[in-house]
Amino acid sequence: MATRRLYYDDSFQKEFTARVVYCEVLPPDVSSGITGTAWGLMLDRTAFYPTSGGQPNDLGKIGDANVLDVRDEGEEILHLVDRKPSHPDVNCCIHWPRRFDHMQQHTGQHLLSAMFQERFGRPTVSFHLGAEVCTIDVRGPEPSEEVLEGAERAANQIIFDDRAVRIRYGTAEELSRLGVRKEVERSGVLRAIEIEGVELQPCGGTHVQSTGQIGIVLVRGCTKIRQDWRVEFVCGGRAEQAARRDFQLRRQVGEKLNCAPEEIVSAAARALAERDSNFKKIRVVLERLANAEAALALQSAATGSNGLRVVSRVFEDVPSEYLGFFGTAIAKTEKTVALLGSADDGDLLFAQHPAVGKDMNALLKQTFEKFGGKGGGTRDFARGRLSDAASAERALSLAKEMLAGE
Ligand SMILES: [Zn+2]
Repeated sequence: MATRRLYYDDSFQKEFTARVVYCEVLPPDVSSGITGTAWGLMLDRTAFYPTSGGQPNDLGKIGDANVLDVRDEGEEILHLVDRKPSHPDVNCCIHWPRRFDHMQQHTGQHLLSAMFQERFGRPTVSFHLGAEVCTIDVRGPEPSEEVLEGAERAANQIIFDDRAVRIRYGTAEELSRLGVRKEVERSGVLRAIEIEGVELQPCGGTHVQSTGQIGIVLVRGCTKIRQDWRVEFVCGGRAEQAARRDFQLRRQVGEKLNCAPEEIVSAAARALAERDSNFKKIRVVLERLANAEAALALQSAATGSNGLRVVSRVFEDVPSEYLGFFGTAIAKTEKTVALLGSADDGDLLFAQHPAVGKDMNALLKQTFEKFGGKGGGTRDFARGRLSDAASAERALSLAKEMLAGE
């Protein structure tokens, strides 16, 4: 028996009575988020909207049972509930905040799509009403900032006009005479939604009664998706929340940057410029310090029996470029080799004066064979990182032994 769809004619009906005409136990359906046993109910009439046409299903109560999902099964509507209602005659109620939100988004979508089409010749090819944001995919060239803003502003003007939103019925022919652009393949009587003086669109969804109830439309972004452009938007209560979040975010950033919310862009630019300039200064100071420390280290390094001076050191609490500066400084002096490590992150750096004639890259690889790690370089300069920073000290001892033993 076909379910009578009360929402077709009155999308503001929040409560209704119905008779359970069919009830069966269903196994858990984890992919739909139903982990326990559920019952599948059919009613003689329903105001519950089933997931379809981009709009998610309603939730609410059927008697003492909670609605988990509502599915369109062609003629019938299947309600998934968490228990069997104790009586076949049931009082039902729709979770209204959720439904009204869906109505604001869905009518807002019709309006926004109409503006993209009418003002800019961009047809909508799909619609998704998500838990956070809604999207439409529009066809054509990339929508510029002006197109996005233009469609948003035109939609909001019609919201401010508070035009009537009406439900129309007719055959495909009748609707096309009334101005439906879309080709409809279904036969028989079709349902369409009209926004007065704006557009007429075949649709089985639930809608607000006038454009004023959409509240406002905010376009939030646009990204390429295959050959189309996915436009993100929010309407009504979601737009209010988004605007409030934006405001809070701006205020928080202002507090962090110590400025008024309207000055955050210039304050952030200043902070970044300052950071870059400090970064450059620190590099200069680091290099000078590394040169001075390298000179001291060379003075105290003993010359081995092979005539080489090896400076071997594990650093703590220095940035990784410090090893580079230090190693480069050491390797400028003839007959010297630097074997350096960092206890913080396990970085190793081996460098030699080119005339020494050893192979730093091979020495590094041999060290990694024993302790694990990755890296490489040239005969004179090689760097990498140990798998375990704690073995830096032992890795350098081994490298030093291998160097002396060659
Ligand atoms: Zn629709």
